[in-house]
Amino acid sequence: MDRPSEGRGLIVVGGGPGGYVAAIRAAQLGAAVTLIERERLGGTCLNVGCIPTKALLRCAGLARSAREGAGRGIHMTLDRVAWEEVLDYQRWVVKRLVDGVSALLKKNQVEVIRGTASFIKPKTLKITGEKNEIREADRIILATGSAPVVPPVPGLKESRYVMDSTGALSVQRFPETMVVIGGGVIGVELACAFQALGCHVTIVEALPRLLPSMDGELAGMLAAGLERQGIKILLGCRVVRVADGPEGARVTVERAGTEEVLSADKVLCAVGRRPCSEGLDPEAGGLLRERGRILTDNRQQTNIPGVYAVGDCAGEIMLAHTASAQGEIAAENAMGGQAVYHPACVPSGVYAFPELAGTGLTEEQAKERNIPFRVGRFPLSANGRALIANGGEGMVKVLVGEELGELLGVHILAPNATELIAEGVSAISMEGLAADLIAAVHGHPTLSEAVREA
Ligand code: NAD
Repeated sequence: MDRPSEGRGLIVVGGGPGGYVAAIRAAQLGAAVTLIERERLGGTCLNVGCIPTKALLRCAGLARSAREGAGRGIHMTLDRVAWEEVLDYQRWVVKRLVDGVSALLKKNQVEVIRGTASFIKPKTLKITGEKNEIREADRIILATGSAPVVPPVPGLKESRYVMDSTGALSVQRFPETMVVIGGGVIGVELACAFQALGCHVTIVEALPRLLPSMDGELAGMLAAGLERQGIKILLGCRVVRVADGPEGARVTVERAGTEEVLSADKVLCAVGRRPCSEGLDPEAGGLLRERGRILTDNRQQTNIPGVYAVGDCAGEIMLAHTASAQGEIAAENAMGGQAVYHPACVPSGVYAFPELAGTGLTEEQAKERNIPFRVGRFPLSANGRALIANGGEGMVKVLVGEELGELLGVHILAPNATELIAEGVSAISMEGLAADLIAAVHGHPTLSEAVREA
């Protein structure tokens, strides 16, 4: 493997799961690495995304347990939700992990500079922040992440009651009512958490279904479960305008030609994220972009040899684990390797009650691609462990090739589905057959038996 040229190390821009993993991997391979981050190490995922959301969902799960106990002989009362303690708990988890990233970078002798990096010409960055300097490097890995999309709805941007996911995770007063615009992953996860903690939530989704990227059948089952939890779901519904009143927002929505006004203490806008390279000036660096996304090949290299882009700033699929996988690949390639990113069985998960996870093809995708397939289903009501865990709500669905029986997709709606999906990821990435999964003895009683049964 090539060593970096003398005195010219490797620069990583962005310290999220794409950037810090790339920095550590490159350092392990012998590069002298500098990481430039303008905010906090850990990026969106650790600070204001995946991690605090899961901490919040853990609190929400505890509140649910307090309510569910009675039917199982354990009578508890949920006195109150002390929101400020919930926020403290989130901050504690986040701090532990961010400190861990910081320690790992230090251990791997990565120089961390707090500041904003902007290209002034190809392979040359101006840094503004705790240090103001110009740095040149032969190898640069860009991992600048994404930012929430703000749709052009009149009154939305101006409203003091509208927040994005970052705002929702740190809202000072817990809202009694909330309208969630967008029934994607962020919308569903936060709707679940807030509803379980005592807020009345309405989801407004423009499409005729929730979670468009997930298997439709299981997403439909999850939606029915959310409604049983008390979440109101308006599908095929557009937000027309938002207006502020003295106590909250008035959200006007339109469905099938009829307008309705929803009142809410808070409005969460979760209609997607866009690649972010604000301040970076990728064009000055000679980089090609498409709809904001820095273009790369499957080795994560941009149109400028030696310059790589990973994660949300380069990707259509914005997931932390995708960013980390691409970060490792970019680091290896920057150090002379030939690693290639294979997106086929990257899992996606929705941390709702219950969780929904999938890997490989959904039924919709298999149909679109005219791939002949068979479907195996197993309802969780017939799985003992699931019956005990959540009354048996959920299903496992497996897609296999019609002729050879190869595994094409695994989709799970179940408690801990985001963990259970790993079996599907391993099996598909090893090009397994359904017969291989069936031949493997699964422990009893476990939720994973349902995967084999399906
Ligand atoms: P998303 O793309 O998952 O969903 C956005 C939803 O908003 C879509 O269903 C879309 O139809 C709807 N929408 C768009 N405009 C609308 C409008 N004007 N009115 C009503 N609905 C509208 O986006 P997200 O939920 O904001 O998440 C952003 C990114 O973060 C995604 O790439 C997601 O994968 C990622 N993420 C992942 C996880 C996880 O892996 N668990 C968690 C959170 C976020």
